[in-house]
Amino acid sequence: MPDWKALLDNEFDLFEPINLAQNLVRIPSVSGEGGEVELARFIANYFIDRQIKVEWQEVEEGRANLIAEIEGILGEGPNLLFNGHLDTVPLGSGWTYPPLGGEIIENRLYGRGACDMKGALASMMYAAYIVSLFAPSLYGKLKLVFVVDEEGSNLGVKHWIKSYREREEVIDFALVGEPTGLNISLGHRGVAAYQVKVRGKSCHMGIAERGVNAIYLASQVIQSIEKKNQELKKFADPDLGNPTLHVGRIQGGTFPNVVPDTCGFEVDVRTVPDFPLGRMEETLQDILDSVQQEKELKFNYQIDQSIPYLPPVKISRDLEGVKILSRSISDVPGEIPTFAPFPASCEASFLVEAGIPTLIFGPGRIEEAHTANEFVSITQIVAASRIYSLLALRFLGGE
Ligand SMILES: [Zn+2]
Repeated sequence: MPDWKALLDNEFDLFEPINLAQNLVRIPSVSGEGGEVELARFIANYFIDRQIKVEWQEVEEGRANLIAEIEGILGEGPNLLFNGHLDTVPLGSGWTYPPLGGEIIENRLYGRGACDMKGALASMMYAAYIVSLFAPSLYGKLKLVFVVDEEGSNLGVKHWIKSYREREEVIDFALVGEPTGLNISLGHRGVAAYQVKVRGKSCHMGIAERGVNAIYLASQVIQSIEKKNQELKKFADPDLGNPTLHVGRIQGGTFPNVVPDTCGFEVDVRTVPDFPLGRMEETLQDILDSVQQEKELKFNYQIDQSIPYLPPVKISRDLEGVKILSRSISDVPGEIPTFAPFPASCEASFLVEAGIPTLIFGPGRIEEAHTANEFVSITQIVAASRIYSLLALRFLGGE
């Protein structure tokens, strides 16, 4: 078996993924605003210049997923997928550094998308090039799928999965490069939201005691929700974290001198396999029922799910790909393989749902994503690129 670490050390140029990441940040690619295609073109040219096969997959007019593929010359074998998204959230305001400047200051590359997730794209691009150099010693294939609209409604990944099913492709293992700070995330919690409406009785504020103030009712319910959230910690999943419920939005009332008869608020819920959506809904209902019982005046309420449910996903630590990734992390000086929950959700859920075992692993911290002065550590970009390379070489080449 080849000594992949030694072979990689001979080839690896650490400036390459850093330069690439700077270039990617300098190409604006705000979701749905037309730039995604420019970014995809730049990435495609990088691959074409290095004799790597690329494919455009039009998702809608002016928006396309970019797919690259490196086939092992030794023939059939395992298929590995690296997935990332081309789009970013809008630039926003409050920046100290130019959001499209790609400036590096004290080990940090600043810019919109630096952390989420152009750093990872650059690491994957360079890893793909490295893997292509060793294609004569590899089996199977490495596929890169960079999609549009991840920050929107996931049109890109859905489109790719449709084609994956139609072509009856088989991917044995996948990695999504979302920023995990180089921790291994075996999945993420499920996400949904509920709109809760509490109905009281309106009247003139001068005789407030004759009405039922829906804002007061809602505020009691909301405080119980906050308390309940603490209790949910005991249902924590070791790989995914705590199930939670949090109020994220509220509206109610018409005028200061009118007792409000309705108050609506929206609750974000995060689920884990042992505390699924049905249980979360029951929990909400119990809270509302118990506040109702405490009150002398009855009030009405209504609970409606307000966004489609994205269920929790989680893969086993015992999968071959997870083991190879752990070993490849250990091979990078200063890095220790660490498992940690990914607090947000991501497109891993779509891949797992399509039957592809998928983990989340990328440079940068989720804390920096979507913020002003978004940055990614360039040390992490380089480390990620080495780790992606080693993972792919070992997955496709043995050892
Ligand atoms: Zn992202």
